[in-house]
Amino acid sequence: MANLQKYSDWSMDEAEEAEKELEKLGSNADFLKFDKGKNVLRFLPGKVGEKPFVLVQQHFIEIPGSTSPIVFACPRIHAKRACPACEQADKLRASGNPADYDRAGKLIPRLRVFANVISRKDPEKGPVVAAFGKQVYEQLIALRKNEDAGGNFTDPGPNGFDVIVEKSGEGLKTEYKVWPQRKTSPLGNDEWLDVMHDLKRYARVASPEELNRMLGSQGASPAPQARTGGRSAPRRTAADDAIDTDGENADD
Ligand SMILES: [Zn+2]
Repeated sequence: MANLQKYSDWSMDEAEEAEKELEKLGSNADFLKFDKGKNVLRFLPGKVGEKPFVLVQQHFIEIPGSTSPIVFACPRIHAKRACPACEQADKLRASGNPADYDRAGKLIPRLRVFANVISRKDPEKGPVVAAFGKQVYEQLIALRKNEDAGGNFTDPGPNGFDVIVEKSGEGLKTEYKVWPQRKTSPLGNDEWLDVMHDLKRYARVASPEELNRMLGSQGASPAPQARTGGRSAPRRTAADDAIDTDGENADD
């Protein structure tokens, strides 16, 4: 009787299944996915002492054989520390070879802006994190500065208003247009203000050790032959989830 198995084996297949499930449920749950067409959003104000938006210069390092790039806040810009991606980009740019210059362009950091929003389509989700580039951010600033168009749209009181972000096109031709909802309206649920996401974590700079681990032995210059199979694929970081790569380059 002692040999009677009283437990289930957790197979490799099941573990792989679990990993996929985690990626689907866990890591993307709190991020807004911009729909094609109109997205009606309520931008939440900043927490006390904070702004509604957190700006991060992020590197997106593509690794051959991996579907998602490695994403990290640039240590050079955000922590005045050595940045493996920027250093690699400097070297490539200095080589005088036009192909290297192009490769350097892929290594330079890009601006990502993070905000807490309520998607009016999915209010039951509560605050979700919207991540976007310069194109959307510039239009949001213009909207805030235009008092005739409504002013501070992040006001949770009756003077605030929803913002419509319309997404069109695909890939590098993706465009985002921003305009105000016609009528002002209160946020609608003040409890949302208590459960906003901490946006500062996206600006956190990884330690040199963490960066080494993320980038592996390849540094910031992935060689096509270096990766063998997904088992050694780099871990995703929290910031990965924020990528809406459509229009990434069109933003700049
Ligand atoms: Zn950098």
